[in-house]
Amino acid sequence: IEPEQVFVGNGSDEVLATAFQAFFGDGTLRFPAVSYSFYPVYCGLYQIPYEAVAMTEDFSVNLAGFLKPGSRGIVLANPNAPTTRFLPLGTIERILQAHPDEVVLVDEAYVDFGGESAIGLIGKYDNLLVVQTLSKSRALAGLRVGFAAGSRELIEGLDRVKNSFNSYTLDRLAIA
Ligand SMILES: *Cc1c(COP(=O)(O)O)cnc(C)c1O
Repeated sequence: IEPEQVFVGNGSDEVLATAFQAFFGDGTLRFPAVSYSFYPVYCGLYQIPYEAVAMTEDFSVNLAGFLKPGSRGIVLANPNAPTTRFLPLGTIERILQAHPDEVVLVDEAYVDFGGESAIGLIGKYDNLLVVQTLSKSRALAGLRVGFAAGSRELIEGLDRVKNSFNSYTLDRLAIA
């Protein structure tokens, strides 16, 4: 991964907020109905229309609801929280292929607890943004470091939004 493929923020919450602002809003954003509670909050704040896709009976992500056309962006926590269910990378790829003109954001806050990271796919899909945090399995929540990995184009989009109004969020010690 090249430096130009990484965006760092003050916790992954800031990375997510910047990504929602940068990439979503000109159509319906989809995420699972039971997932990270900040997703609908960011949508409310940035006035992003969204569809909370109902879970299946066993609380898995409803794949059909994410493959159908009609969205303008997708956010998936993988593994999902608080349901714990993990989508295999092949399924993530199917979603990416179904929506080549939309940003598909995969929030991997819990990936080290069981799952496979999609970071290895960023070279293959320029619409994939993978977000990770040092706050959970990496036990550094107080450091407030999160990051996104994606294509140069996506990372440049994040940098532009952040540098437009919130330029110096991470101090030098945290960067080191
Ligand atoms: C905890 C959590 C985050 C944010 O964590 P930060 O401390 O801001 O990095 C993001 N997404 C999910 C799914 C989380 O559980």
